[in-house]
Amino acid sequence: MSPPPGAGRYAPSPSGDLHLGNLRTALLAWLFARTEGRAFLLRIEDMDRVRPGAEARQLRDLARLGITFDPPAIRQTDRLPAYERALASLSEQGLVYECFCTRREISEAASAPHHTLRPDGAYPGTCRTLTPGERAARRTLRPAALRLRVPEGVVTHTVTDRLAGEVTAMVDDLVLRRNDGVYAYNLAVVIDDAFQQVGQVVRGDDLLTSAPRQAYLAGLLGLPIPEYVHVPLVVAPSGTRLAKRDGAVTLADLAPHGWTPDRVRSLLAVSLGLAGPGEAVTMEDLAARFDPGGIPREPWRVDPAALT
Ligand code: GLU
Repeated sequence: MSPPPGAGRYAPSPSGDLHLGNLRTALLAWLFARTEGRAFLLRIEDMDRVRPGAEARQLRDLARLGITFDPPAIRQTDRLPAYERALASLSEQGLVYECFCTRREISEAASAPHHTLRPDGAYPGTCRTLTPGERAARRTLRPAALRLRVPEGVVTHTVTDRLAGEVTAMVDDLVLRRNDGVYAYNLAVVIDDAFQQVGQVVRGDDLLTSAPRQAYLAGLLGLPIPEYVHVPLVVAPSGTRLAKRDGAVTLADLAPHGWTPDRVRSLLAVSLGLAGPGEAVTMEDLAARFDPGGIPREPWRVDPAALT
């Protein structure tokens, strides 16, 4: 008998209430996992930008839609020793260095005339070759961030996404720990997905170009690479990614206008081609109808003004 497939997961950052875009991505992640016999796990990505009360409201809203999780849930602020260990293991391999650059210094160095060896947007490597004396002097000025020393300098790395196909992106000396001591998302996500035995990452396609760097880092750490499924975002009529300022886009905003969680589930299902307009559907109905090959490939354009 083959082992059960790796888990699916949803990994919200408790920076505010979930909006229709977040909820639709969570619903898709649930559908992919549940229809493929995968466990579905929750991870609270609470290392940064936490708003008091947001986590509880996010969990309540997910539950109201019927998006359920298997235990145990984890939170990133409980996982700091694991990130520290991973950093130590990279460091032992000579793959970590201190970086003292400000954002401004990076953009100035990147636009200097001699900067011809690295592609646009790559860290220009300023602190890669500092001598111990130069590092000691800079430490007295400001705390260091820690960067990955990509052994080859800059590389491109390719992952296969279930919807987008082969995706190649540049991997440069990415930040592993910021200079305020917070571990970088790219490091934490790789370690946590492996720890939770995640085999499938379903998330918004704004993170598509991060997948190659995460997979590259996983390779350096000897961790398995999950299947990636980057799903289309939800956009406002202006064409920009949906945000809370676009109007009534959370369950709490929509409730006074008659949008019960059941009606919102139906709205999301219609947007995915899984229900007819206004049709009441349960999560079980959606799981029975779900066809991964049939999910819309274009962003879902939603007009919050039309919902109120
Ligand atoms: N915490 C991230 C977010 O809310 C998601 C990261 C991920 O799914 O890898 O945007």
